[in-house]
Amino acid sequence: MKIGVLALQGAVREHVTSIEKSGAQAVPVKRIEDLEGLDALVLPGGESTTMRKLLDRYELLEPIRKLAEEDVPMFGTCAGLILLARTISGQDSHLNVMDVTVERNSFGRQVDSFEANLAVRGLDEPFRAVFIRAPHIVKVGASVDVLAEHNGRIVLARDGNFLGCSFHPELTDDNRLMEYFIGLVEKSNVQSV
Ligand code: GLN
Repeated sequence: MKIGVLALQGAVREHVTSIEKSGAQAVPVKRIEDLEGLDALVLPGGESTTMRKLLDRYELLEPIRKLAEEDVPMFGTCAGLILLARTISGQDSHLNVMDVTVERNSFGRQVDSFEANLAVRGLDEPFRAVFIRAPHIVKVGASVDVLAEHNGRIVLARDGNFLGCSFHPELTDDNRLMEYFIGLVEKSNVQSV
């Protein structure tokens, strides 16, 4: 299984490590050609406005949107979730593929960064989540499953083959969310055969 990691900016190497630990092949994506033959794509955290500028500069926005239309699974973490969202409070959206509305930097200035133990649907033990100037999901469409909340705010959700979280699972040694995503990819591969 080949999983691409958008490698324009942000926490790329950590995702590559996490994918490899989960037994799949990781492919850093910098150019259109790198998207060829991927089973799935990870959109890392970083800064979504900067990532959008780079997506435009390297002409990757439309090709990635096309993959999403073909239902290729995508996992967006933090800024990656913002890229996937159909709606972003107060500004235009980017890829426009996951039926959620996100609000950026929504946990307040005084707590730019924090960690929290999350109860995640489908995981037996809590997940230690690292939040860095994190967004949260303010609204979800009918097709979306909410998988975790923090203080009443949605921070992990799935819309079919699209998974998005507010935090940075790649910054800890806990691979369970990447394994969950790889499980989604396996299921979607089986369906497409
Ligand atoms: N605040 C960033 C943004 O709006 C996201 C932060 C992150 O990815 N850690 O894009």
